[in-house]
Amino acid sequence: MAKTILCLPGDGIGPEVTAEAMKLLECLGNDFGLSLRIEQGSVGGSAYDQHGVPLPDATLEAARGADAVLLGAVGGPKWEALPYESRPERGLLALRAELQLFANLRPAVTYSQLADASSLKTELVSGLDIMIVRELTGGIYFGQPRGVRTADNGEREGYNTLVYRESEIERIVRVAFDVARKRNRRVCSVDKANVLEATELWREVATSTAKEYSDVELTHLYVDNAAMQLVCRPKQFDVIVTTNMFGDILSDIAAMLTGSIGMLPSASLAADGKGMYEPIHGSAPDIAGQGVANPLATLLSVAMMLRYSLDEERLAGLVETAVERVLDSGLRTADLVNAGGRSVSTAQMGDAVVSALRDLSGGS
Ligand code: NAD
Repeated sequence: MAKTILCLPGDGIGPEVTAEAMKLLECLGNDFGLSLRIEQGSVGGSAYDQHGVPLPDATLEAARGADAVLLGAVGGPKWEALPYESRPERGLLALRAELQLFANLRPAVTYSQLADASSLKTELVSGLDIMIVRELTGGIYFGQPRGVRTADNGEREGYNTLVYRESEIERIVRVAFDVARKRNRRVCSVDKANVLEATELWREVATSTAKEYSDVELTHLYVDNAAMQLVCRPKQFDVIVTTNMFGDILSDIAAMLTGSIGMLPSASLAADGKGMYEPIHGSAPDIAGQGVANPLATLLSVAMMLRYSLDEERLAGLVETAVERVLDSGLRTADLVNAGGRSVSTAQMGDAVVSALRDLSGGS
């Protein structure tokens, strides 16, 4: 039976990079016999412009009915002055919450062809392969109460709440252990248990859950130390599991180690296997419309979709191999030219990956 994919291009470079993903999906259908039904929807600032809300009901309904969602990016200066609830990013957060996408998987992989583009020395990052598992629907980004209020002395104060239930911690820690079993069987849980009670509980639950995974090694780090270790000895890590906010920050640090934010995909998974797949970068308003954005993070997000929601591990591997081959051939979008090679546009890069994938179909 055909699987339904909902594509949400979003704003800025979102439509440019998802257009390349559509070419890839078409190739997977035509040349590899993958049966897919592709739907399109709106989200973010462009949805606000058309429908007055960043997450229209029709988009949410289509996302609920789809097997997987592929998203470009949302946001941009045009919508920054809108009231908080109407901003593009609220549409994305609402979609994650409504679909209960509690587990965010963000790989940070340094491709050998691009190691020179990293801000760290090549020997520190060459061969880097970390999976960051970030809790996505809880913690301080969602905790109540929140807001800005007037204190007794008339001064305004902003406040947010960091709250985690045991069940929320346990389910994300389990995802990390399951992922580690398919990798090098090491999980590092990151918290701030020395000052935050919510993460003291996090550490306690991680430790007790680990008893069921005796084949996986569990270690703990405070978030400040984890940030330091990521930039001084990043290759010590296999899987990192952490809270929503810590994961947000640490995964951006890890992203930079790999050379370009334009290379990194992500998956956000629900308990039932449904997932939303998106590049980790934003809408890059500074380069939108110029045809220079790197589409590889989005194409690698398609590979994650094949692996985690469509149960097509072999095709996922072929897409990743196609990306590697194109990098081997020396093609580079503008963000990667530090690593040497020939500069190409977004569409040329997408076409090259599709062509490399098609070449692989001979052996499939
Ligand atoms: P950004 O990721 O959009 O851009 C940061 C820098 O990286 C920019 O210089 C940009 O040109 C570059 N860059 C990003 N993606 C690239 C790609 N594929 N190829 C080449 N270069 C790329 O982050 P930002 O500038 O902080 O945010 C811009 C907008 O995106 C904001 O409105 C923000 O809220 C939004 N945002 C959205 C998401 C999302 O949709 N998931 C994530 C982060 C930021």
